[in-house]
Amino acid sequence: MELMYRSTRDSEKRVTASQAVLQGLSSDGGLFVPETLPVLGNTIDELAEMDYRELAYEVMKLFLTDYTEEELKDCINKAYDNKFDTPEIAPVKQVGQAYYLELFHGATIAFKDMALSILPHLLTKAAKKNQVKEEIVILTATSGDTGKAALAGFADVEGTKIIVFYPKDGVSSVQEKQMVTQQGANTEVIGILGNFDDAQTGVKMMFNNTELAGKLKSAGYLFSSANSINIGRLVPQIVYYVHSYVDLYKKKQIEKGEKVNFVVPTGNFGNILAGYYAKQLGIPVNKLICASNENKVLFDFFQTGSYNRNREFILTQSPSMDILVSSNLERLIYQIAGGDSEKTAGFMKALQGQGIYEITEEMKANLEGFVGGWASEEETREAIHRTYTENNYVIDTHTAVAASVYDKYIKETGDTSKTVIVSTASPYKFANSVLGALKVGDIPEDDYAQAILLKEVSKIEIPEAVEELRTAPVLHKKVCEISQMQELVERLLKII
Ligand SMILES: *Cc1c(COP(=O)(O)O)cnc(C)c1O
Repeated sequence: MELMYRSTRDSEKRVTASQAVLQGLSSDGGLFVPETLPVLGNTIDELAEMDYRELAYEVMKLFLTDYTEEELKDCINKAYDNKFDTPEIAPVKQVGQAYYLELFHGATIAFKDMALSILPHLLTKAAKKNQVKEEIVILTATSGDTGKAALAGFADVEGTKIIVFYPKDGVSSVQEKQMVTQQGANTEVIGILGNFDDAQTGVKMMFNNTELAGKLKSAGYLFSSANSINIGRLVPQIVYYVHSYVDLYKKKQIEKGEKVNFVVPTGNFGNILAGYYAKQLGIPVNKLICASNENKVLFDFFQTGSYNRNREFILTQSPSMDILVSSNLERLIYQIAGGDSEKTAGFMKALQGQGIYEITEEMKANLEGFVGGWASEEETREAIHRTYTENNYVIDTHTAVAASVYDKYIKETGDTSKTVIVSTASPYKFANSVLGALKVGDIPEDDYAQAILLKEVSKIEIPEAVEELRTAPVLHKKVCEISQMQELVERLLKII
């Protein structure tokens, strides 16, 4: 049976999976959500026989029902290949009393690769299926990691162009270098003089601008999104939750049906939402623990039921989580409101207008499976230091936020459930901050010298993604004001 998608803000709007992937965002500003949440039919023993790709197919076919088996398998095989530095794709490591799900073995050493290595394939297939003649323009706002992963995924993909906006002063040095050295005639990278929320808002406004859409269409272009507002980003992320659970079962770390916790370092709420969908699929999950840095809007939301973005935006050492408007929370709001799009639209209007909304008691009760936590900058450094001194394992700053939140969670609750900490980036991506937290003495200025020092400490090989930055020339130098984003896009596409 075909699974259709609906906009979170308009119940009349119904599209197929491939149309949802193509459009990215619904024209009413809402996000596409599956009409019903599917359930996995396989037993855990069946799943235990499968490798990552086979399992990916079993999960993704439930969500992307208008792709044929051949199409979907082709996308999966092209995505999860030797771009990953381990055949396991997403290995689980036991460290102390927790399990770390390492999602940074792809081309750009952050978890965004898990979805962005497959999205270009899902999108180009969707264009074919829907007889789209236009060239697809991927507009993306990034807090650092999405940008590079999307650029790597879409570079030189026929029939596409990709334009990435990042906060000029809000990403790590390695993140910036990764983006501005991107090759590919169809790629554009622009630094904006603002933060991630500004970039994301600017991009969303272009999506919702019908006049611009008309201009684009007549020039032979169609906008789509590589941000996690695209359902084509979320679906591939569900796979590794299932895979890690099955892995723990295979390694006899858990019994059949035993519930586990997942701690997820969270920004735009995409990763943890995929965990929520995995739970609905039937994966035994106890708590989904949402870990925030000092931009703790989500922690306050889970605490009080009030989402309030009216606060100072803090630049932290976990920049990919420096976000005050977590777009994907809208999908959860829709779900806990019982699929009420009018209600959801109301909340989002309030968020846009007053910067705040408050959910009902009834909705709050539906959040039972979530726990919110946050870690300060100092606590994040401590978590890196402790994990290293106690277990000889070096984690990055984002993962450290989750590790710190987990420690506090156990102390507060005494919960003894097995717990998976979702590890979202390689420490090499944030070497400067990681070395600082490890307190290994003077930190060299040069990025590569930092990498060498980190190698001595961590005994992990320097990833190819860092090696290649040594000699890569800077190819992108554009910087613009927030107010100029649209004009710049129109200029790049030569439609003004
Ligand atoms: C994007 C990112 C996050 C946040 O993930 P969301 O899906 O936006 O919540 C956390 N850690 C790293 C390293 C990231 O790149």
